[in-house]
Amino acid sequence: MSRLPEPLPRALAPLPGEGLPGLTLRLSHRLDLSPTMLFARTGLQTSKGSYTSGRLLLALGDRLTAFAQATQLTPVEAARLTLAPDSERYPPISMSLHPRPNRFFPYDLWVFTAFTRYCPRCLLGDGSVIQQRHGGPWKIRWRLPVIFICQDHQTFLRDGCPRCQRSAHAFDQAGSRLLPLSPHGGLHPAQCRNRETGLTPTRQFCGARLDSMAAQPPQPEITPSLWRLQNRITDLLNEATDPLEASRYFTGLRVMSAILQATWPQGRHFTPTGLSDALDEHVDQLKRRAGERKDHAERLRWDAPPRSAVATAILLDGAATLLALERPALREALRTMLPSAPAKSSKQWGRTWLHLKKHASTQLRDDVEAAVANYL
Ligand SMILES: [Zn+2]
Ligand SMILES: [Zn+2]
Repeated sequence: MSRLPEPLPRALAPLPGEGLPGLTLRLSHRLDLSPTMLFARTGLQTSKGSYTSGRLLLALGDRLTAFAQATQLTPVEAARLTLAPDSERYPPISMSLHPRPNRFFPYDLWVFTAFTRYCPRCLLGDGSVIQQRHGGPWKIRWRLPVIFICQDHQTFLRDGCPRCQRSAHAFDQAGSRLLPLSPHGGLHPAQCRNRETGLTPTRQFCGARLDSMAAQPPQPEITPSLWRLQNRITDLLNEATDPLEASRYFTGLRVMSAILQATWPQGRHFTPTGLSDALDEHVDQLKRRAGERKDHAERLRWDAPPRSAVATAILLDGAATLLALERPALREALRTMLPSAPAKSSKQWGRTWLHLKKHASTQLRDDVEAAVANYL
């Protein structure tokens, strides 16, 4: 067994809801180390030259003991920095933890995105001395696309940097890294870590503060139904919820979201009025990009969540409305929507049907499969 690392000279207690990227950013800021140096000192990076994969968001695995020792956390505290505690209730996590072998992209798009959402006010911190110095939490659940509202600050999450306009913590490939530009130290945890397009030796990253409200574009009001849906979703992720109930509901949302996106704007009347423009924009973008690029990610487009929290909220609200219909009404809705969708065999559906088969309730599976058999 390899030797455990020395404890770091200073520790930081995890903030409520904080994830591994957030704690490592705050710790490296406190210790004046680059994130890469911190990964090496805490056992997250096991060999020189290897990179620290986004897979650590799922679970720390055999690195947990070393990381907990170095950061002076209990193993339970260290495990809570990952998505592992939600794996029983949210099937995309368990399916990513146990992927089928030889897949080009073994992780699920409803966990591993090429972006991170965030709440500027959470990043600003609560005013305590430690949060004034090193910022507030980057929360682990912001990595789940089903989280679109910050309930503490009653605002939609943001998805882009107001200066460089790219996604916050953008990755070329979803899940490839734990943090972007991790060899670079000296950035505050709330600064944008995106690489600049016109590279110069002195300026390699954007560096805009994501915790400043001044530069943030305005957002729509949160409607009562979106607020209720976000509360329902966080209740389902709660440890007290029956895992089967939660995993069935999340699967239903995913299947209905795929059908809504594939047939948009057919299901517009199931989504909240006045807000569906954000989803129009998302679906238009998908269609444009699919025409330009034929790579793997684009072929999975109906199964992927929108980057925008507002567009995702609208999509999931429409999906929840469909799921709440009585069976005859649901069958009728599917009957009118599905004829305009691509064939069932199309790769554009991603893992939609696999999730339906493995994790949906028998009733939902029967209803959707019957409709798919008739129309696709
Ligand atoms: Zn917040
Ligand atoms: Zn930026």
